[in-house]
Amino acid sequence: MQNIQWKNWRVIIKVDPDKVLPGAVRKTLSSLAVDAVVIGGTQNVNRVNSQQLFDLVKSCGYRGPVVQELSSPEAVILGVDGYLLPVVLNTKKLLWLRDAHLQAIEMYGDLIPWEKVLVEGYLVCNPDSAVGQKTGAAAVTAKQAAAYVTLAERVYNLPVFYIEYSGIYGDIEVVRTISRVRRNIRLWYGGGIRSTGQVRQMLRHVDTVVIGNAIYESSPVLEELVKIRAARNAKERNLSDEVIAVQKHVCDACGYVYDPEKGEPDNGVAPGTAFENLPDTWVCPKCGVETDDFSPV
Ligand SMILES: [Zn+2]
Repeated sequence: MQNIQWKNWRVIIKVDPDKVLPGAVRKTLSSLAVDAVVIGGTQNVNRVNSQQLFDLVKSCGYRGPVVQELSSPEAVILGVDGYLLPVVLNTKKLLWLRDAHLQAIEMYGDLIPWEKVLVEGYLVCNPDSAVGQKTGAAAVTAKQAAAYVTLAERVYNLPVFYIEYSGIYGDIEVVRTISRVRRNIRLWYGGGIRSTGQVRQMLRHVDTVVIGNAIYESSPVLEELVKIRAARNAKERNLSDEVIAVQKHVCDACGYVYDPEKGEPDNGVAPGTAFENLPDTWVCPKCGVETDDFSPV
């Protein structure tokens, strides 16, 4: 999948063939600040609904890479930019670790475009989720998680380690531990992302954040991603300073609002300092959290 530069992906969204893509998402899909769209789910995924969803994503005017995450050999569709192949490392069932992949190889053999396939070593961290139930994955401690990422990187030599909390926001200690232990394997995180504050928090520890369920809820994260994209486009047109400079940010922890127009003269931050330009050492003056825990207002 080199041609679609997946290593540069920071925020991606995952759409589920078993769910109806809400109208609000269809309308904004082409203007979201996301690096790729993944088609994939756990339940009732087949070739027909996967193809329909792919066509729908294209018809929404989305121009970025669209890849399919494979959950069964029968669901493979053509025309996508790549395939994500999950290997569930902490499953109790050989099907998810090995046998489904063997079946697919036996079924398709030489037809498999391996240059388009990216293998993901999955750590399923929410045993109660659909994927947790299906794969029979047990909860993991931070120590076990560290062992799993080492296994993925050193033993299996996988390119991606996917921390999957599926529906719930992850244990930051587990994520942080994985991030400390890994060397070069790329870290992807998915689960419970409902704000860009959470996106930023996770991006301190992982390379790529996957937004899933939030797109089926009327979550503010989509609106925020539209704003970020607009700001980015403006930046490309050299209008960035005007747009970014006035963007207020609220502390997710205590509610303090940073207003760039006022700055924070008492702490040496001059009026007119954009949130993005605050010094690295800057923390919330009220509660002390770092800038990652702020969200745009
Ligand atoms: Zn605060």
